[in-house]
Parts: sequence; structure tokens; C-alpha cells
Amino acid sequence: MQKHILIVEDEPAIRDMVAFALRKADMEPAHAADARSAQSMIAERVPDLILLDWMLPGMSGLDLARRLRRDDLTRAIPIIMLTARGEETDRVGGLDAGVDDYVVKPFSPRELIARINAVIRRSRGSDTEGSIAIGPLKIDSAAHRVYAGDQSVSIGPTEYRLLHFFMTHPERVYARSQLLDYVWGGSVYVEERTVDVHIRRLRQTLEPYACDGLLQTVRGAGYRFSATPAA
Ligand code: CA
Repeated sequence: MQKHILIVEDEPAIRDMVAFALRKADMEPAHAADARSAQSMIAERVPDLILLDWMLPGMSGLDLARRLRRDDLTRAIPIIMLTARGEETDRVGGLDAGVDDYVVKPFSPRELIARINAVIRRSRGSDTEGSIAIGPLKIDSAAHRVYAGDQSVSIGPTEYRLLHFFMTHPERVYARSQLLDYVWGGSVYVEERTVDVHIRRLRQTLEPYACDGLLQTVRGAGYRFSATPAA
């Protein structure tokens, strides 16, 4: 099945270049020039992924991303943000909005297609299959269960959410503030220290199964979940 990709971009040159690259990669592009028309297009047909320009006339790409994440129907649509170079410093703001990845303009069509494929692969692992395996660990989101090999792992609710987030977003480093947003929903009443507490508990949960090493501390940056041992 061809992937249906919605491009939300007001600059015709970029829009056309992206649409061309998508078609060449056997994907099916559609485009909207602003957030409002994007919303009505999404309501008609849910795309497999949205390429979302940061700076749009009217509602910004970031605000649209936030809205999509709040709505049950659109929450799971993968979003890749297209940003201009000067907007890079606002990346954290984009991560807060639940954006899956970034591509900074100017980008090559090849880079863009690679990112799209990676994001779709990742989101499919978490949604359609319902179960994800990394190393000996397996999480079954439908049953809300965790397994290490064939042993069932007893895990607390917050540790489960944390593990689920990490297993659906492996190989990337997340700062405490980002984990707070993603796992705790950005509650202002939760301190960053809380993240460390639950990371510690999650490691203790995984330790008897020799899986605690999957959850790596990246000094000065945050945490990463990876099947590849930390250097
Ligand atoms: Ca723009």
C-alpha cells in the first residue's frame, strides 16, 4: 500500500519539491497550504504521516501539532516538522508538542524519505503490532504486559509508561524535561527529580532479568533505551 503523506507547507517551491520526492519514493502526497485546510483534509482522510512546516500563515505548525496530539483520532499520526535553520533553537518546543522528528531546511529529498521511513517504521512498531521487542524484553501494549524472555515481569504503572515510551522511542537520548512531557504529560507538579526516581525503579525492575543495561544514562544529556551496550 502506498503511504499517504500530507504536506502542510505554504511555500510552493518546497511543497512541489517534496511532493516530487514522495512520488518518486512510491508514496502518495497531498498538500495543504495552512493549518486550517490541513485539519479538514485530515478529517476526511487520516494520512500515514504529516510533514508539517513550522512557520505557516495563521495557526503555526507547532500549534497544529499540539492540537493533533490532543485529539484521539489524530494523536497517533506521525509528524515530521520542517524547520528553517534559525528555528532550530526551538526544537525543544517542538518535542513538547509531540513531534516525532525534525528535518531542517534546506534538506535533501533522500534525507527526507529516509526520515519518513524511519518514523513510520517506529510508529507502526508501537501501534499496529501492539507488541515491541528490544533485546530480550518484550512489551505487549494491548495486554499491558512486559516479558523478559518468556518470564512475565511485574512492573509498576509509572515504570510501565516509562518503559513503553522508551521501547517505542529507542536509540534516542531524552532529557528529563522531555520525559516529563511525554510520560507524565508535562504536569507542572512533577519535578525532574521524579524522573530519576522512576528510572531507578525501572532499572531495579529489569535487573533480575539482566535487562537494566538497556536503559542507559547519557551523561549531561539524559537517558536512552538501546539494545546496543553504552560505550
Ligand atoms: Ca512556511
